[in-house]
Amino acid sequence: MAQVSRLPEFVSRNPGSIEVICGPMFSGKTEELIRRLRRAQIARQRVFCFKPSRDTRYADADIVSHSAQHLSSIPVSSAVEIESFLNNQSLLPDVLGIDEVQFFDDRIVGIADAMAGQGVRVIVAGLDLDYRAEPFGPMPRLLAISESVTKVLAVCIACGAPASRSQRVAHDCRVDAQSKDRVLVGATDAYEARCRRCFIDGVDTPSLPNVN
Ligand SMILES: [Zn+2]
Repeated sequence: MAQVSRLPEFVSRNPGSIEVICGPMFSGKTEELIRRLRRAQIARQRVFCFKPSRDTRYADADIVSHSAQHLSSIPVSSAVEIESFLNNQSLLPDVLGIDEVQFFDDRIVGIADAMAGQGVRVIVAGLDLDYRAEPFGPMPRLLAISESVTKVLAVCIACGAPASRSQRVAHDCRVDAQSKDRVLVGATDAYEARCRRCFIDGVDTPSLPNVN
């Protein structure tokens, strides 16, 4: 009888991957990230989740979506901090989640790539565009090297169409003038989801009444 040969090492080993969840504000990116990480936890996989420590909205050490879903995470001030945290672990995670990834510098790209190269499933969520509708920080490179991209859309506050843009609204100009941030995290009333047609480039427009 023929012996059943074992799968060669290169087939059985997890090849690792990068998944990007992106879209404008209020599109449910964090919710989708939490959903994927939860499923991995249910499957008893080792899951780590990081977020930039500047994201102080809601709970401190949790990532929390606008719809109040939450998952415990590790706040870090830089991409390098994620790297040193992982280097201090005896075991790599099966799944590595990073929320608000657009706020990290380009080193996050190399870290995500290196982790995926070691068999980790890396899932990142972030804004693909800033409030001027320009590609945001490391997002273009992350999108390019990823295996999977999920674009989620919000609902345009002006017309109800699917929205891909984050419009900065005028009543928060005072706050923005004091801040060098491209997006003020947590100031959910300072931005509105808009479709292409209703988005006004580079202008702080008056807030519009919600269509709902
Ligand atoms: Zn619209």
